[in-house]
Amino acid sequence: MVENRKKISFILLIVLSAVSITMLALIAFNLQEYGYNNAKSRATAVAKVVEIGLTSHMLNKTMDKRAQFITQIEQMENIERLWLVRGAAIIKQYGEGLQNEIAHDEIDKEVLKTGKIREVHLDPSFASSSYRVTIPYKARTDGSIDCLSCHDAQVGDTLGAITIEMDVSDLKTEAMRFIGYISLFALFLILFVLLFVNRLIGPYLHIFDSIKRVMQGAQQGDYSQRITDARSKESKEVQTWVNTLLEKLQTSLNNIESNIHTLTHSKSVDTDPLIEAKRTVTRLSQIYDFRKALEHDEQLSHLYSRLAMVLHQQFKLDDLNIIEADNTKMTTQVVHMEKGLLCDVEDGCHAHRTNSTADSCQFHGFCMQMPLGDVDYICVPYSISNDLDLVISIITSSDEEADRVRTLLPSIEDYIDVARPQIINKRLMQTLERSGQTDALTGLYNRRYLVENVEIITQQLRRTKMTYGVLMTDIDHFKILNDTYGHDVGDIAIKTIADTLQQNVRASDTVIRLGGKEFIVLLYNCDVAYIKEVAEKIRGAFAKTKIKAETACLQKTISIGAAIFPEHDEDLWKCIKYADIALEHAKSTGRNRVTLFDTSLLDTTKVKSSRGI
Ligand code: GH3
Ligand code: MG
Repeated sequence: MVENRKKISFILLIVLSAVSITMLALIAFNLQEYGYNNAKSRATAVAKVVEIGLTSHMLNKTMDKRAQFITQIEQMENIERLWLVRGAAIIKQYGEGLQNEIAHDEIDKEVLKTGKIREVHLDPSFASSSYRVTIPYKARTDGSIDCLSCHDAQVGDTLGAITIEMDVSDLKTEAMRFIGYISLFALFLILFVLLFVNRLIGPYLHIFDSIKRVMQGAQQGDYSQRITDARSKESKEVQTWVNTLLEKLQTSLNNIESNIHTLTHSKSVDTDPLIEAKRTVTRLSQIYDFRKALEHDEQLSHLYSRLAMVLHQQFKLDDLNIIEADNTKMTTQVVHMEKGLLCDVEDGCHAHRTNSTADSCQFHGFCMQMPLGDVDYICVPYSISNDLDLVISIITSSDEEADRVRTLLPSIEDYIDVARPQIINKRLMQTLERSGQTDALTGLYNRRYLVENVEIITQQLRRTKMTYGVLMTDIDHFKILNDTYGHDVGDIAIKTIADTLQQNVRASDTVIRLGGKEFIVLLYNCDVAYIKEVAEKIRGAFAKTKIKAETACLQKTISIGAAIFPEHDEDLWKCIKYADIALEHAKSTGRNRVTLFDTSLLDTTKVKSSRGI
């Protein structure tokens, strides 16, 4: 406030001083003019008196006595010097006179020549106290005076001139005194105006400064400051309004802040609670939208896709995997991937096992399942239920990106919290659904599962650009076994092959009992070499396995047909059919063997559709 007050006072002082100085200058100028005009009229009067006196002397023929007259005039108040000069006509007629009345200087000569009055301010400053005027006497014939009666001249000729030097210091002293009074008055006026204005605007400046201070605080997120000691009635009203508003804001924001902590895991990032509240409301509304959208997702896989989509859109996380860890079955599998498979979780997941975040920036090679040294990652475990955890694996391309992801983790947790009941719900529904999709004898998925899921599996594979190996297996000469040992032994053989298949594939692979003694195995992320390797492993393992029945201990063989999606066809059903064709080829070429599908088989193999494919 002191600053503003000083500024306003200074401006006022400058303006008032400028006005006063201008006023004083004008007064001084006018006084000077008045002084000179006054002196001029006095000089003109003296010149007239001298003219009349000289004329009288001339008429009375006492011109020789005029010196005394002139001396008396010269002794008049304020007259310093006085002299007369004769014009050319007079000098010619009467000579230069006893007192040598010829032109004293150039001014006299000029006046005699031009016949015009000349005034000289001997010192042009106002401090000067001398004024000189030279007045011409001209020949005239008016009234009682007829110059032509004595002088050889024409009317209007300059007969002579009188010069009077006057002391005008009394006028100057008067003027100075007057200006002094005016200056004093102006000074008092300026002081009064300054004091009055200061007193008048003081309270407004004070309230203005207080508002500025509390608003600056509010601008930086501090709503606790208040306006104090308002000095005028209006200022007090403003103080009440502003303080009430700030009080409301502060209380509301404190309430919002404390409620926010119970709603989200995110920490405040902005020091301004108002901006923080706005940010949180936006985030909560996004989370609410997410929750609403989840209610419309039918499949658990859709839910995971939506979660990944939100992580991608909201947090710009474009390379991540979502891993499901089943604590009952002790299995871990990737249920969603954005760009591709990040790690092989077949043998477990570090973040899930330790129930803590695996951050490669803390220790490189943290997780044995991640490709060593190639990428940086942050894997975060989230508990969904007693028997299910989710792990989100995020690839980070730089240290800055890793820092950014770390700050996002509480927000990601908010989304997991919202998705949690839906995940549990969908898992329950999945379990119920699967009870109709599993085979009672072996516990494996049945044909219904394949029919109901083939479309979803195909879409997932297309989206993730993942390959699937399809194995179609069939026991050799099963009919004989049935016929010889009965159907019960046949069923034991079927259970044995189911166990063999499961033991020789990974948890992420799917074994389906298609019907009777035929099985399909879908091998996840598989190429030609791997499919052959797995198929041979199964075939060899089963050949060595003893089928233990009450009445017998037998050994049987199986034949396997294999095809690869999408290498052999982009339709999974077609790939299954091609695996079936390859199986027929294996049967027809001697059994107990693996045949990988080849288009040449389409011509050579007569396909039986005993499996309904
Ligand atoms: P191939 O080597 O050519 O396959 O000869 P195969 O004798 O195994 O012939 P096929 O595959 O046609 O066998 C059909 C027999 O499988 C008929 C039936 O007795 C038996 N079978 C089908 N389903 C079941 C089942 O669920 N349990 C038992 N025990 N036998 C079954
Ligand atoms: Mg058979």
